[in-house]
Amino acid sequence: MKYIASWSGGKDSTTSIILAHEHGEPLDLIIFSEVMFDEYTSGELPEHINFIKKQAIPRFEEWGYEVKILRASLNYMDIFMREPTRGKRFGTGMKTGFPMAGRCQINRSVKVKPIKDFFKTVDYEYTQYIGMAVDEPVRLERVVKTDNQISLLQKYGYTEKMAFDLCEKYNLLSPIYEFAPRGGCWFCPNARLAELKHLRTHYPDLWKKLLDLENEKNLIGNVWNTLTHTSIHDMEERFYWEDRQVTLFDYIGGADS
Ligand code: SF4
Repeated sequence: MKYIASWSGGKDSTTSIILAHEHGEPLDLIIFSEVMFDEYTSGELPEHINFIKKQAIPRFEEWGYEVKILRASLNYMDIFMREPTRGKRFGTGMKTGFPMAGRCQINRSVKVKPIKDFFKTVDYEYTQYIGMAVDEPVRLERVVKTDNQISLLQKYGYTEKMAFDLCEKYNLLSPIYEFAPRGGCWFCPNARLAELKHLRTHYPDLWKKLLDLENEKNLIGNVWNTLTHTSIHDMEERFYWEDRQVTLFDYIGGADS
C-alpha cells in the first residue's frame, strides 16, 4: 500500500502534508496538477506557482517526500480556440471561448484529467490523502464513503482556521491568502472583485491577455463570465474610473492642504 497526497498548494492540502510529517504518517508521493494557460504560461497566479516551486516543494523534498507536477496535454488556450466537436454549434466555425462559470471545462479537462490519468497508470494499491477540514462536513462525507481516501485533517481534528495557522507556523502559507479566500486560475470566471483587481494591478500583462481574448471574433463563450455576462472590458472600465476617482480625491486633498 502506498500513500499519495493530492496537493493544490492551498492551506488544507498543505496541512495534510504537514500533519503526515509531524505524526510520521506514511507518505510516498505528493501530486500537484498545474493548469497551464498556454504552452509557456502557468494558469496559477505567479506568486502561487512561485510559492509551489520555490518554497513548498523544496521543503517537502527536504522532509524526504517525492513531489510530481502533473500537466494535461491540453491547456486553457487549446480549449478556448477549439471548435465544438458536436452540438448545434458544430461546423459553424465558432470557437469555444471563455469557460462556463459553474461548469468549467478547464477544471475537467486541464486540472482533474491529469490526476485521473495518473491514477490509471498506478499499478499498486494506494490510499489518497485529501485535504478536507472537519468543518467541511458535506465534502468530508464524500471522502468517508470512498474506500481509498483519507483526510488527515479529519483524523487530527483540524478546522480550516487551524489549517491556516499551521501553514503560517511552518511558513508554508501561499501568498494568495493575502488577498483571496481561495486559490484558482488567474483567468477563473469565479474570481472575486479583489482577485480581479489584484490581477490588473500586479500582472497587467495577464490582464491584457484577457482583454485581448474578449476581442476575438466568433466565440461561443464571448465574455469572461458567461453566467453573469460580466466582461473583462466592463471590469476594466470600472477599475479605470475607480483609479481616476482616487487620483481626483488625492488632488483635491492636496489642493486643500
Ligand atoms: S479555478 Fe476556475 S478556471 Fe480554474 S479550473 Fe477551477 S473553476 Fe476552472
